[in-house]
Amino acid sequence: MIPYGRQHLDEDDVKAVVETLTSNWLTQGPAIPKFETALADYCGANFGIAVNSATSALHIACLALGVSEGDRVWTSPNSFVASSNCALYCGAKIDFVDIDLNTGNMCVDALRNKLALAESINALPKVVIPVHFAGQPCDMKEIRALSKQYGFFVIEDASHAVGAKYQEKFVGSCEFSDICVFSFHPVKIITTMEGGMALTNNSEWAEKMRMLRSHGITNDPEKMTEDSHGPWYYQQIALGFNYRMTDVEAALGLTQLDKLDTFVEKRNALATYYDKSLRNQENIAPLSQHNDIYSSYHLYVVRVKSLDSTMHTTLVTQLRESGIFAHVHYIPIHLQPYYQNLGFKKGDYPNAERYYQQAITLPMFPDLSENDVTSIVSTLIKHVDNLR
Ligand SMILES: *Cc1c(COP(=O)(O)O)cnc(C)c1O
Repeated sequence: MIPYGRQHLDEDDVKAVVETLTSNWLTQGPAIPKFETALADYCGANFGIAVNSATSALHIACLALGVSEGDRVWTSPNSFVASSNCALYCGAKIDFVDIDLNTGNMCVDALRNKLALAESINALPKVVIPVHFAGQPCDMKEIRALSKQYGFFVIEDASHAVGAKYQEKFVGSCEFSDICVFSFHPVKIITTMEGGMALTNNSEWAEKMRMLRSHGITNDPEKMTEDSHGPWYYQQIALGFNYRMTDVEAALGLTQLDKLDTFVEKRNALATYYDKSLRNQENIAPLSQHNDIYSSYHLYVVRVKSLDSTMHTTLVTQLRESGIFAHVHYIPIHLQPYYQNLGFKKGDYPNAERYYQQAITLPMFPDLSENDVTSIVSTLIKHVDNLR
């Protein structure tokens, strides 16, 4: 079975993990700040805060920006549930902005219209969370312009997009956002097993996130309410969490980061090969790519335009029976039972729903070969033709 995504680990990754395991530091050691600095430098951001998942990073990013009860947070319905759950953890209200069918990303026109309407009823969001779907950065310049106009913060959910570029700059530079979040889950671009990072250029938010990832505790005498009792002393000054990354994970992150450019280059080469192999298929459309971006191609997604939901199920099942572990990204978040109970219903975001019925995620990972792609594409075409 060819999976839809898979990590790539080398000897140097294994060596780094084993060395850290046998060192003095398993949890709070030197690899964590090293990994934070290395990735922040790579992306061109001032600060990196490593945590145990992107989900945790999204949560403390919302908290650092002051999201609390009564606030509104908007994100894309075409994402993993973590993109919206983070708002609910803070007691905020969640809402969604429909997507562009051709890219799967938040539609900027839909955002603009929704903001104008929200302003008229005094219901503007505090934070908007664009998701760089499949590794293609959203239209950040436009989103930033709207954030200035309407006064909301921007958190990039870049779980798919470490190593991607927007207008020649790496995602994570936070040039057009306040905080940017990456995931290092094994199916993502680089892995630390579980893990994530929040990047920002704002020292105050960085400090707040550092404190929140570790119980809301500070060792900084400046922040304490009384003089330190001695070198062992700390104070809890906020309600935080245990969201820390381990040193072993960070050591793996460092050796994975060395390979990030190669991973993304390989993914791009495979995507080009997929595109070429599908060029004459009018019914099978790869996601369209804007020309001012460089995708990290976390996912390779095609839309099979002739599909209804029954045919969609049949096609994915047949692909799996043929040894290709096709997947579907994403079930629109607002259709999840938990979200339906919050009042969302079918029909709320028609593009996300229509897209869901036609989208197929094909295998994409650095160790996939062009021969694999050739056979995946011919199997796909055969099954699609049989459906009609
Ligand atoms: C994977 C993913 C997350 C969550 O990442 P974890 O590191 O597993 O918590 C959040 N958002 C998106 C878009 C993702 O793909």
